[in-house]
Amino acid sequence: MQRLPSPNVLAEEQDDATIRPGRFDEFVGQAQIKETLAIAIDAAKRRGETLDHILFSGPPGLGKTTLAQIIAREMGVALRSTTGPVLDKPGDLAAQLTALSRGDVLFIDEIHRLNPVVEEILYPAMEDSCIDVMIGEGPGARAVQLPLEEFTLVGATTKVGLLGSPLRDRFGFIFRLNLYEVPDLVKIVLRSAGIMQTAITPEGALEIAQRSRGTPRIANRLLRRVRDFALVRGDGSIDAPTADTALTMLGIDALGLDDLDRRILSVIADDFGGGPVGVKTIAISIGEEVRTVEEVYEPYLIQIGFIKRTPQGRETTPAALRHLKAPGRA
Ligand code: ADP
Repeated sequence: MQRLPSPNVLAEEQDDATIRPGRFDEFVGQAQIKETLAIAIDAAKRRGETLDHILFSGPPGLGKTTLAQIIAREMGVALRSTTGPVLDKPGDLAAQLTALSRGDVLFIDEIHRLNPVVEEILYPAMEDSCIDVMIGEGPGARAVQLPLEEFTLVGATTKVGLLGSPLRDRFGFIFRLNLYEVPDLVKIVLRSAGIMQTAITPEGALEIAQRSRGTPRIANRLLRRVRDFALVRGDGSIDAPTADTALTMLGIDALGLDDLDRRILSVIADDFGGGPVGVKTIAISIGEEVRTVEEVYEPYLIQIGFIKRTPQGRETTPAALRHLKAPGRA
C-alpha cells in the first residue's frame, strides 16, 4: 500500500507549485543564463525550429527544474518530466521519447544517473531524432530504426563531471547554476512571502536569506518554518528577531549551518586534525551517503571558505575553526 504523505507535506507541495516562478521575469538572478535562453527561445520560435538541447548543472534547489518548466512554457510546448534512475531499461526511455510531439521538452533530472544502456538510446534520439529498437530475441532479433518527432532534451545534473563526453557533447547549451548571493535570496523570500500573504520586514527577509546556504529551495523552506513560528508565537508577521529565534530553535546557526554541517566540520577539524581526509571517511563518520556530503553539504561549506578540497582530501580552514568555537556571522 502506498503511504499517504502527511498533511504538512501536501501543504508544502501546494505552496511549492504556487511560489515556483512560471516566467523568466519571476525567476530571480542568473541573469546571463536567462538572457541566453530568452534569445535562443526567441530565435527558435521565429525560425519555427525546435530549441537545441540544454544541460543544467549545479547543486540541488537552485532552479534547474523551474527553468525547464519556464522553457517549455515560453516555447509553448508540452513538458514531460522524468529522472535518470527511473529510466531503468531502454524501453522506459523509448516510451517517453515516442510519446513526444514536435518541439516538446523532455526533462531528465539526475541525468548523470542514467543506466549506460539507456543513455546510448539518447545519442541517436538527440542527434538524428530516431531510436534503434530491437525486435524479437535471440538469433532472430533485428534492430529497427524508429523515427521520433524532433524534441528538446533538458537535462539536469548535480555532477556534470560524471557525464560522459558522448552525452555532454550533444547538448547545444551547458549552463552551470551557482549558489545565489544574499540580495537575490532576499528577493526570493520577499516574493514567496507575498504569495503566501505573510507580512515580512526587509530585515526579516535578510535574516532568512543569510541562513539559506545560497539555495532558493532552502530559503523557501526556512520561510515556511519561520511563518509557522510567527503565527503560533507572535502575530503572524515576520521581523528579524522572530526569524532569528525561529531559526535558532531549529538548530540553524547565523550562517545557515545545521547540525550535520557542524558535524562534518568537526570530523575534519577534531577527529582528523584539520585534514586532509577523504570524503568517504567523512561520510562514514557522520552516517551519510558520500553523494549527500559531496552534492548537498560541501558546495556551501566550500563557497563560504570553511572547507578546502585538495587532491589528498578535505581540509578545514581557520575560519571554520573560529566558527565552530563561536558560531557568529564570520
Ligand atoms: P532544482 O531542480 O535545481 O533542484 P528547483 O527548480 O526545483 O531546483 O527549485 C527549487 C525551488 O526553489 C522552486 O520551487 C522555486 O520555487 C525556488 N526557486 C529556484 N530558483 C529560483 C529563482 N531563481 N527565483 C525564485 N525562486 C526560485
